[in-house]
Amino acid sequence: MINFQYARATDVADAVRLIAADPAAKFIAGGTNLIDLMKDDIERPSRLIDITRLPLKDVKPAPGGGLIIGALVPNSDLAYHPAIEERYPLLASAILAGASAQLRNMASTGGNLLQRTRCYYFYDTATPCNKRDPGSGCSARNGLNRMHAILGTSEQCIAVHPSDMCVALAALEATVHVAGRNGERSIAFADFHRLPGDEPQRDSNLRADEIITAVELPPQGFVQNYSYLKIRDRLSYAFALVSVAAALELDGGTIKEARLALGGVAHKPWRNAEAEAALRGRAPDRAAFAQAADIVLREAKGFSHNAFKIELVRRAIVRALTQAAAGTPQIQAIKKIR
Ligand SMILES: Cc1cc2nc3c(=O)[nH]c(=O)nc-3n(C[C@H](O)[C@H](O)[C@H](O)COP(=O)(O)OP(=O)(O)OC[C@H]3O[C@@H](n4cnc5c(N)ncnc54)[C@H](O)[C@@H]3O)c2cc1C
Ligand code: SF4
Repeated sequence: MINFQYARATDVADAVRLIAADPAAKFIAGGTNLIDLMKDDIERPSRLIDITRLPLKDVKPAPGGGLIIGALVPNSDLAYHPAIEERYPLLASAILAGASAQLRNMASTGGNLLQRTRCYYFYDTATPCNKRDPGSGCSARNGLNRMHAILGTSEQCIAVHPSDMCVALAALEATVHVAGRNGERSIAFADFHRLPGDEPQRDSNLRADEIITAVELPPQGFVQNYSYLKIRDRLSYAFALVSVAAALELDGGTIKEARLALGGVAHKPWRNAEAEAALRGRAPDRAAFAQAADIVLREAKGFSHNAFKIELVRRAIVRALTQAAAGTPQIQAIKKIR
């Protein structure tokens, strides 16, 4: 039996006060990841700070014309929220591609951002893992690495971030709002998650005394031309081998704006500014999409079991951009089968 304390935060300031007072404490929201990590003895928080009663459950208009999503909005509520379905169908599609209906009912927006990798060795306390036990080594580099990263890896870690929702948030250029001991701040989504580098134990740039309060979406939702393509071993209830969030703004026969974010390939949702720039001003055709894929994959590096991902990503990018350009009404199709 591993003992831990339990406290319920009464408001955001109380949550910050509680976490700042105990560096070994953890917030608990839906608990769909943290409880598993505790059961497997990977996380050992001294205290769970229950944030489920904080008033962070609304989706409301942002002053600049976008939307503000409270950190405790459940993934299901978010995917089926009318404003998300109508204005940000890419995000709704990505959320519905993840986990199961039951998990999405419990999982929160903030928790989804901070869910930990699904690297098998991270969950196996009998094996070395730099993310779980810094300095112990990386079992995946020369072990089973079929699901691991091909971009942005380091000698210390080749794990991937498992979220679907975050891939869409990266493409939409969301902002993460946080509160801490020194007040509130906003973090661009691209800067929220980290590459492993020499500190693979740090998944994000959230400080130890900070709580995520909301995620803000900018006004542009790419309603007409978007696609979330998730390639996985089973059709449902499986993490992505590779996923692509593609969003285009077309002006006549030309791409005016392009966003491309990848999941399942790196320690954070992966974007490549050069590839997106190469799409702007081009006709939305296969040649342009293939060139963008080539740029994204220029620095890709496979390991013993996952080199297949390089070709898989190439094809997935071309397919997702083709679907986006065609204006496939994806969210309607998903709703019919769920
Ligand atoms: C079997 C299974 C399959 C899954 N499949 C998928 C999938 O295909 N795609 C996908 O995207 N996800 C998938 N998930 C992951 C699931 O989406 C996450 O577990 C969930 O989003 C986490 O949210 P939560 O509220 O339950 O977080 P918790 O488990 O409560 O917390 C997770 C972490 O976030 C921290 N935290 C939570 N809220 C805050 C906050 N507001 N501020 C600061 N820190 C916070 C906690 O301290 C903890 O460290 C799956 C999960 C399971 C168990
Ligand atoms: S890839 Fe990262 S999480 Fe997996 S064993 Fe190596 S260090 Fe640990």
